[in-house]
Parts: sequence; structure tokens; C-alpha cells
Amino acid sequence: MATRLVIVGGVAAGTKAASRARRVNPEIEITLYQEEPEVSISECGLPYFLSDMIGARSKLVARTPEEFARNGIEARTRCRVERIDPERKRLSVCDLATSEKLEDAYDRLIIATGAQAVLPSIPGSDLDGVFTLRFLTDADRILGYVKERSPKKAVVVGGGYVGLEAAENLKNRGGMEVSLVQSGDHVAAAFDPGAAEVVEDHLREKGVEVVTGARVEEFEGDGHIRGVRFGDRRLEADIAVVGVGIQPRVDLAETTGMELGASGAIRVDRYMKTNLPEVWAAGDCVESTNLASGKPGWFPLGDTANQMGRVAGTNAATGENTLEFPGVTGTIVFKVFDFGVGKSGLSEREAQNAGFDAASAEITSTSRAAYYPGAERVYLKLIAERSTGRILGAQTVGAGADKLVDVCATAIWGRLSYRDLINLDLAYAPPFGPVLSPVIQAASVLSSVLEK
Ligand SMILES: Cc1cc2nc3c(=O)[nH]c(=O)nc-3n(C[C@H](O)[C@H](O)[C@H](O)COP(=O)(O)OP(=O)(O)OC[C@H]3O[C@@H](n4cnc5c(N)ncnc54)[C@H](O)[C@@H]3O)c2cc1C
Repeated sequence: MATRLVIVGGVAAGTKAASRARRVNPEIEITLYQEEPEVSISECGLPYFLSDMIGARSKLVARTPEEFARNGIEARTRCRVERIDPERKRLSVCDLATSEKLEDAYDRLIIATGAQAVLPSIPGSDLDGVFTLRFLTDADRILGYVKERSPKKAVVVGGGYVGLEAAENLKNRGGMEVSLVQSGDHVAAAFDPGAAEVVEDHLREKGVEVVTGARVEEFEGDGHIRGVRFGDRRLEADIAVVGVGIQPRVDLAETTGMELGASGAIRVDRYMKTNLPEVWAAGDCVESTNLASGKPGWFPLGDTANQMGRVAGTNAATGENTLEFPGVTGTIVFKVFDFGVGKSGLSEREAQNAGFDAASAEITSTSRAAYYPGAERVYLKLIAERSTGRILGAQTVGAGADKLVDVCATAIWGRLSYRDLINLDLAYAPPFGPVLSPVIQAASVLSSVLEK
């Protein structure tokens, strides 16, 4: 009999694992259970769907169950795996369309249950018009509400990248005033204040009201949301999008006896294997190693989920430790109106918390030669370990930030020092950057800080 692989969760990690497993083992039987009505959803595109920039909804679904079936993968949507018995290697599944309970069995299992948005338990969070944004079905609900009620005032709660992208795209729809309320001192809390302030100034330039240091205490309304209250202030709101964070979805893993790490996500080894026999895990439900600090951490990102899915799918299909997942540098990039905003490795605060004696340098440079038409400002901060000069982190905001953050991510990955960066042979021509890349400029400033 063919070996049977079951995968729980069908977005980035689950579908990547399924496709890899099929490629490396044409014989294995693969069934994937997915609670949402679609598999293979491009969740990273959801903010842009809100502004109608993407157009057809179907563009955000990379592959349908029928396409998976043609590749010998059974993808069952609207099916929630409710219990796993790891001793008998059996699972209980609820078909959400019919409420029917099904039993299934596996030889090998991959958990790819992802993460879920946190909706704070404050009064009024159940009002109509208060939304989170995680799934395509959330975006459907937001757009349905916008079309039905034509809101004039939107409040985005939370200044992480999902909140920032939501604010931009609600504004870009036209016809809405947008405010963003953030509990901390700055938006983009994973960044140091210098970078975050550049983002805040740009949001204001683009007409988004930014309120920091404000913890929302109540959504007010009469069935529908009418306002958001914090301290003695109130903002009128006809719609609110809450992006105050996400948490790993580990209820099923936990009740099955899978070990969790300090971050609350599932602990796996370098082969994406959990502590249970024949069970792997991948994606946003899993903890990883931060290569900048060498410590465990949680990095819920789409590219990382795909890379982990590749390793878990390969190893589950071969039944061997064929591939390893080394860890991540936590590299992110997102767009805030005209700016790219990127980070890799540790912020200065994170470096200090991880026990490093860190030094940093900040520069403002240009995205093209200063005389070349279209040159725009770009901010870059580099953080390095004082004793060795090793680059621990980078943050960049402005035009061309996507390129700079990737150069820095490679440097962090390769454990390069600021001295290496000063001599990097990077490409140059006036339409693409200044004669010395902002990375080289920042490394030179860092050298004067460290070699003082
Ligand atoms: C608005 C938004 C923008 C983003 N932008 C970016 C970006 O620009 N770059 C980036 O790198 N990342 C981005 N991300 C993050 C990225 O989307 C996630 O990291 C990625 O989707 C994680 O994939 P996953 O498969 O691990 O988990 P998920 O996407 O969370 O999918 C897990 C799936 O498993 C299902 N499931 C859970 N439990 C069960 C169960 N018991 N039975 C059956 N099914 C179950 C869930 O319903 C869910 O559909 C963004 C996310 C959002 C929400």
C-alpha cells in the first residue's frame, strides 16, 4: 500500500509541502485539509485587493483543488481537522459544509495551520464594521461592508505592516478619511524610532492621521461602529480594521502533544520535525532560529512559510532527513505609499536585548545619482556588533529600500562585517543609485563610529 501523507492547512506552507512531496515521491498518497473555502491563497495581496488594485478576486488564488487533483493531490476545503491521535495515527475531521464528522488515517503528517489575527477583547469589538484582515474571506467582508455602507471615516488600529498596508489601501480607494491609532510611541514597532519616524512623516504627508501612544479602549456604536475611544479622545469611525498582531495557531498541535517553543509556536528541529514520530510542521505555526542572534524566534512570513514547506514536504515524502532549514534573518519589506520599508536581522533594541554590545550608524542618501531625474531620499541604518564588526541588523525607508534590505540580508546571512561591506563590489549607474551604494556609505559611517 502507498504511504499516506496528510497535511493540515492549505495556504503557503501546506500547499508548498504538498507540491514538493508529490515531486520527490510520485507514489505517495497526499490529502490536504483546509478550513477556509479556498487553498493556495495569496494573503500578502489582500491589502491591495481592498483598494481594487488587484481586480479580479480569482487572481489571489494561485491554485484550485481541481488543479491540485490533476497533480495527484486531494485538497479538501472547508474541512477542519479537530483532533489527532498520534498513537493510532488517526485524525477526526469536520466537514464544515455539512457538519459531518469524518475519520482519516495517516502514515506521515504535516501541520501547517498558520497564524490567526488577534482581536482584542475590548467593548464593541463585535460591532458590525470592525474587522481583522487575515484571510481572503476577511477581505470579502470588508469590501462587502464598504460597498454596502460607503464609509467616510476609517480607523486602522495597529501600526504593524498589516495596519500600515490597510491604511494606505483604504486611503487609495478614495472617498475615505483614514486615521491610524497605535498604542506604542511609534508605528512599525519592530523598527527603531529613527526609521519609524520617517514612516510616520510620510503617512501624514499622504493625508493619514497618525495617533501614537493611544490604546483603544472601546469601539462605540449602535450595532454598527460609530467611533473609536481611547483615553479622553474619540475618533469618529464608520469602519475599523484591527491589525494589532497575530498569534500562531497551535491549539490542535498543543492538544496532540506537540512541544511548543518560548514564542508559543511549534518547536521543530532542523528538518522541520516535531517531537512526535512521523509529524513535521511548517509555516507561521512554527518557531525558527534567528540567524542574527542564534536564538529561537517567531517569523510569520510568506516566503519563510514557503521555504519551510519545501523542507517539510521533501522530508515527509522521503521519510528521511533529506533537507535542512537553517533559520532566518527575519527579512521583511512592505510599501507605505511612495516608500519601501525594509528590515533584516535585529533592531538596535533587539540587539541589546539579545545581549550584544551593539553600535549603529544612520544615513540619508538617494535612490539614484543626486543629479539624475527622479532621485528620491532613502534612509538606512546599520547595526553591528562592537567587538567583531559583524552586521546584526539593517533598517531602510524610502525609494529603493527593497534592494538595500536584500543586500543587507545577504550580509547578515553571510556574517559579514562592516569592513566587508565597505569593499563590496555592487553595481552602479546613475539611474540606479549613487556612485557608492547607501550600504557602503552607511558601512563607512559605522567604521568611523567603531574605529573612533
Ligand atoms: C494582510 C497580510 C499581508 C501579508 N503580507 C506579507 C508580505 O508582504 N510578505 C510576507 O512575507 N508575508 C506577508 N504576510 C504573511 C503571510 O501571508 C503568511 O506568513 C503566510 O500566509 C503563512 O502561511 P501558512 O501556510 O504558514 O499559514 P496561513 O496563511 O495562516 O494558512 C494556514 C491555513 O490553515 C488553515 N487551518 C488552520 N487550522 C486548521 C485545521 N485545524 N484544519 C484545517 N485547516 C486549518 C487556516 O484556515 C489557514 O487557511 C501577510 C499576511 C497578511 C494577513
